Amino acid sequence: MRTLRHLAFAVLASVIVSYAILETFSNGLGMVGLVAAIVAPLGLAGPMVFFMALKHKQLEIAYERLEAAAARDSLTQCLNHGAFVTEVSTLLAEAQGKGGGLLVIDADHFKSINDRFGHACGDTALKMIAATIRSVVRETDIVGRLGGEEFGIFLPGAGEAVTRIVAQDLRLRIRAITFDIGGETCSLSVSIGGAVSEGPAAFGDLFRYADAQLYAVKNAGRDNVEVMTFPASPTLPAAANAPTLMYRGQRVVNS
Ligand code: GH3
Ligand code: MG
Ligand code: MG
Repeated sequence: MRTLRHLAFAVLASVIVSYAILETFSNGLGMVGLVAAIVAPLGLAGPMVFFMALKHKQLEIAYERLEAAAARDSLTQCLNHGAFVTEVSTLLAEAQGKGGGLLVIDADHFKSINDRFGHACGDTALKMIAATIRSVVRETDIVGRLGGEEFGIFLPGAGEAVTRIVAQDLRLRIRAITFDIGGETCSLSVSIGGAVSEGPAAFGDLFRYADAQLYAVKNAGRDNVEVMTFPASPTLPAAANAPTLMYRGQRVVNS
């Protein structure tokens, strides 16, 4: 379409210029002149414009792929921390939004997995956790690796009951994972903290709630789930004045 548009413009320009020149300095455009004014740009500009349009499209596709790759964590293919925060913040801020459930998932005693089985095995375990997370969520849910052995899930529109069910399902599935390394069996478990908003909310506030639940689960012995409903939008103005939340050196968006 782009080639056709450019060609139509080139033909029109060629006819107008040829007409003006030949009418002024010669005996007029005539049939031969008109055909030449149409055929010349088609023959010359056609292939060139098509080639340039093709390259332009290829560049556009490559840029889109690059952008998508930059938003993902290379080990687990989950969204990286920044992309996760941006996507969830956007959904949470929607005026007509129904909120949703935010889960923060942290692998238990992960350092000891690295220490006992090696870093490569730790990486495999992280991939398994990510795959298990993907197996329990819907396509519309958002999954991110928040950093290290910590993941986040946002379930748009989910209430407390659904958020809790997803979290428990995930915990049990990860609990069932075992793999053998050099005759030793490695098993995994996660602690999950969740916060649910029933309306628009600031990501930073919801994250703080979920993280507090996670902290409680860790303190109570790990391998468990704690989910609570976060107060809805009336508290937002106050929340906007809350101190900026920093997470792993990055500012967590507070809108
Ligand atoms: P807790 O149950 O309290 O969360 O204990 P933990 O050992 O999981 O927590 P801690 O914060 O002490 O250690 C996290 C470990 O996660 C340490 C770090 O080596 C490991 N880790 C973080 N990112 C990666 C990674 O990309 N690959 C591997 N293999 N290990 C990682
Ligand atoms: Mg941990
Ligand atoms: Mg951690």
